[in-house]
Amino acid sequence: MGPPTERIPEDRTLPSHVDVVIVGGGVIGISTARALIEKGLSVAVCEKGYIAGEQSSRNWGWCRATHRDLRELELSLESLKLWRHIDAELGIDTGFRQCGILYAADDAKALADHEAWLARAVALVGRDALDSRIVSPDETGTLMSGAARRFAGGIYTPSDGRAEPQRAVPAMAVALRERGVKVLTPCAVRGIETNGGAISGVVTEYGRIACGSVVVAGGAWTRYFAGSIGVDVPQLMVRSSVMRTSPLENGPDVSACNQEMGYRKRLDGGYTIANAFHSYHDITPDSFRLFTKFLPALKSQFGSTKLALNARFFEELRRPRRWPLDRPTVFETSRTLDPAPVEAFNKAAVTEFRALFPALAGLRIEQAWAGYIDVTPDAVPVISAVDEKRGLFIATGFSGHGFGIGPAAGRLMADLVANDAPLVDPRAFRLSRFFDGSKIEMDGGF
Ligand SMILES: Cc1cc2nc3c(=O)[nH]c(=O)nc-3n(C[C@H](O)[C@H](O)[C@H](O)COP(=O)(O)OP(=O)(O)OC[C@H]3O[C@@H](n4cnc5c(N)ncnc54)[C@H](O)[C@@H]3O)c2cc1C
Repeated sequence: MGPPTERIPEDRTLPSHVDVVIVGGGVIGISTARALIEKGLSVAVCEKGYIAGEQSSRNWGWCRATHRDLRELELSLESLKLWRHIDAELGIDTGFRQCGILYAADDAKALADHEAWLARAVALVGRDALDSRIVSPDETGTLMSGAARRFAGGIYTPSDGRAEPQRAVPAMAVALRERGVKVLTPCAVRGIETNGGAISGVVTEYGRIACGSVVVAGGAWTRYFAGSIGVDVPQLMVRSSVMRTSPLENGPDVSACNQEMGYRKRLDGGYTIANAFHSYHDITPDSFRLFTKFLPALKSQFGSTKLALNARFFEELRRPRRWPLDRPTVFETSRTLDPAPVEAFNKAAVTEFRALFPALAGLRIEQAWAGYIDVTPDAVPVISAVDEKRGLFIATGFSGHGFGIGPAAGRLMADLVANDAPLVDPRAFRLSRFFDGSKIEMDGGF
């Protein structure tokens, strides 16, 4: 079962026509909708389950520039600027707090990695744009107040923050409804219609919406959905597990991680705790189809991603690659992905938390859950037009960082849809990089 996520009232009444239909009511779909109505376009968001029901409610809630892939760094910094104003602008409480984020270094090698990232990041965006700094063992101890262990130091970014995944996106969706966005939920999109090579509408489980543009922001479903209209989006899923604790007095306010575990203070007074860098890849037929494209990622994640063969393989094997739009689809039978958490990973994380903070060792785990993270071969998202289909756009593959960069990613997607000057240079995010001979590589961000 997923975490306790705020639910917004259902709405199944379709508009006959809008400028843009967005497939997916996660942080990316909702942020794109927000930016599009600011441009004066009419928008419908279709969510097959409930708003933020998949990754966008299940994540840690970290909003950061620290250690971002340099191709994504400017977008991360723009997103933090947006997070700081969302609540005031929409009259909501997303739980965003500028709490700072610390990556504590367990040893000299980890510290050297932090130093190397910082030097490259500062060279790219300049000192004025980025307040990350290397901190001493003493300051690391102060930032991890109550920690029983001495670290080699760390990297700390005071302007990074946290928001509440179980509240933020639903709150934004409600505010957008009041501003005229049609937020349809539960409402699965079965497919897309084209006319003369251009987008002309979508077919939902309740009927058709005519539109000139479609943004597919379907998270882990995007590859499958886009594939049905002949658009190849290289994307796999990794299963990542999380826990939340009972409220804890006098715990650290700064969000932090080391090589074993990460934590964040929650608005309810508890902590979200998770295994920092370990996840499962549930093998699916796509794992074989995309093997060569993901080889660099596999090499760089060697040891931290475990492979699992389970029912998911056979479930995906049975799925059709194309389907009629006048009958129920898998988007209606599988409303919300809710994978089982990996107990061993969670146990290791909570053991580490207790060892690090003996004064908090009496904590109670209130709930554990997991989510499927959608990853691309270079762990950088796709925020892109689809060259061969006029009016089709894809925003997906956020590879474990999409909650924090969601607001700016939505703005960039809206800029591309409206053909406005883009918020940041979008070339690193184009879908065609996977097919035009560009070298696909990880850059060491995590
Ligand atoms: C355990 C975990 C920890 C994470 N920690 C962090 C973190 O600390 N910081 C951070 O920045 N990121 C984090 N992430 C990543 C972040 O949550 C995601 O990158 C982000 O939420 C992706 O948003 P999205 O809108 O693209 O996808 P999602 O939130 O998955 O939303 C996609 C939506 O599309 C809907 N959909 C799909 N197909 C259809 C269809 N045909 N019709 C209608 N609806 C459809 C789905 O139901 C789903 O609700 C974490 C993720 C996980 C799982």
